[in-house]
Amino acid sequence: MPLEILTIPCLSDNYAFLAHDAASGETALVDAPEAGPILAALKDKGWSLSHVLLTHHHWDHVDGLPGILEHHKPKVIGAKADAHRLPPLDLAVAEGDRFEIGGAPVHVYDVSGHTVGHIAFYLPDSAAVFTADSLMALGCGRLFEGTPDQMWASLSKLAALPPETTVYSGHEYTQSNGRFALTIEPDNAELISRTEAIARDRASNIPTVPSQLSLELATNPFLRAHLPGVQRNLGMQGAEPARVFAEIRARKDKF
Ligand code: ZN
Ligand code: FE
Repeated sequence: MPLEILTIPCLSDNYAFLAHDAASGETALVDAPEAGPILAALKDKGWSLSHVLLTHHHWDHVDGLPGILEHHKPKVIGAKADAHRLPPLDLAVAEGDRFEIGGAPVHVYDVSGHTVGHIAFYLPDSAAVFTADSLMALGCGRLFEGTPDQMWASLSKLAALPPETTVYSGHEYTQSNGRFALTIEPDNAELISRTEAIARDRASNIPTVPSQLSLELATNPFLRAHLPGVQRNLGMQGAEPARVFAEIRARKDKF
């Protein structure tokens, strides 16, 4: 059975997620930007937290945890590589590790780049992946700690998941990501119609997260550095995809 997944807007542009298994009553939180909206969503649903999954150490993904732990006693799960700079972990995990939420398997991927030690959580039974600041809707996280090669390798792992996977990323940056994406692929028809849909959604304050991996593969420039059309637009025909990715990321940093 797929889990019921709720998207919870937090702070000014962050998202947290609750994943609930009706049969067991187990509920996992993915990232803790701030306690208030997460506690309110749990109360509203009548759910109690069994797990907290932390993607990376940045404050806007962990600072809500102490306030949540005043009301719930979940098992806190995060990257072994980051145990020294994450809140205290009950389970420290690394690439290839698996655990369960309500009997549903969760696969851990190392998606370093934005930070070193950033992890993603893939739930095959729910066709869901929680990517935070690695793969984002129409974008990817800025490279604060990792290298372009590392991020390209991380994004390539996520790109290889089934295309029907739903991508739950960490921020509402999609509209500005779209404006940038159009500078890389101004003639990409799917990108043009996606940016129009995003503009309509944002005008009504509708979240653009989550998104479908198939749509990211068709429109997200950071997943498309290996494609001849993108390389031609950048004057980088035949270049290593990681170099093309590095150029796209550098342009975005200055956009
Ligand atoms: Zn971050
Ligand atoms: Fe963030």
